[in-house]
Amino acid sequence: MFANRGLEIKTRGQIDKMRIAGLLVGQTLELLRASARPGVTTGELDALAEANIRDHGGVPSFKGYSHPPFPATICASVNDEVVHGIPGERVLGDGDIVSIDCGAIVDGWHGDAAITVAIGEVAPEVIELMRVTEEALWHGLAAARLGGRVTDISHAVEQHVRSQGPYGILEDYTGHGIGTEMHMAPNVPNYGRPGRGPTLVEGLALAVEPMVTLGSKETDLLEDDWTVATSDGSMAAHFEHTFTLTPDGAWVLTAIDGGAARLAELGVAFGGR
Ligand code: MG
Ligand code: MG
Repeated sequence: MFANRGLEIKTRGQIDKMRIAGLLVGQTLELLRASARPGVTTGELDALAEANIRDHGGVPSFKGYSHPPFPATICASVNDEVVHGIPGERVLGDGDIVSIDCGAIVDGWHGDAAITVAIGEVAPEVIELMRVTEEALWHGLAAARLGGRVTDISHAVEQHVRSQGPYGILEDYTGHGIGTEMHMAPNVPNYGRPGRGPTLVEGLALAVEPMVTLGSKETDLLEDDWTVATSDGSMAAHFEHTFTLTPDGAWVLTAIDGGAARLAELGVAFGGR
């Protein structure tokens, strides 16, 4: 357990508080999914997200984060943008995809999740990219077991993506521990050999977030110092959930149903309360 030093291990009561933050993030993303359509700007989605989070007693965790301070409540990354896009005047059009990442703090505890949404009619290979990325997230979550290791998740994410086609998996950005801060130890890569990294124990909370492209895994940081875009201009998808393990199974804190349905499809016990 030496490798687990420095990890924040939550009590049951603290995990229950994380569920409240996680549900608010999940509900906010569902609101944005329903609102994202041709003609809507990413800035309008951002305003909806901020209002929903604040109306429910939360604080947007991205706003003011890091240096230069992130200026918005959501990240909105369109098409070849993978993550960390800054919402603004950009109008979503038919055939676009937008990856929306959202984080909120409730009573000191963080939730963090992301979805990629199709706008209007999107090319079939892009729909496939979204499917593969979301499935890879769930395969990663389903690979987590108490007593297992962090890279069991990484391996399962990568294996699923590789089994589906010649996709690019970002290596420069990873999932992460989460709790009293958004980004905590350990990193959760989206590739690699299983059986490595910290041991998965009750009370650990992790954000798993595969970032997958139709081309290269290489990315560039745009001039705004935030937006990460594919170097080859290929389309990219990003799905993320915050989750934990209980003695009963897995509990996806940012999923509306706690992950029960998707976990059941993969034969994994639901560990929510
Ligand atoms: Mg996120
Ligand atoms: Mg995250």
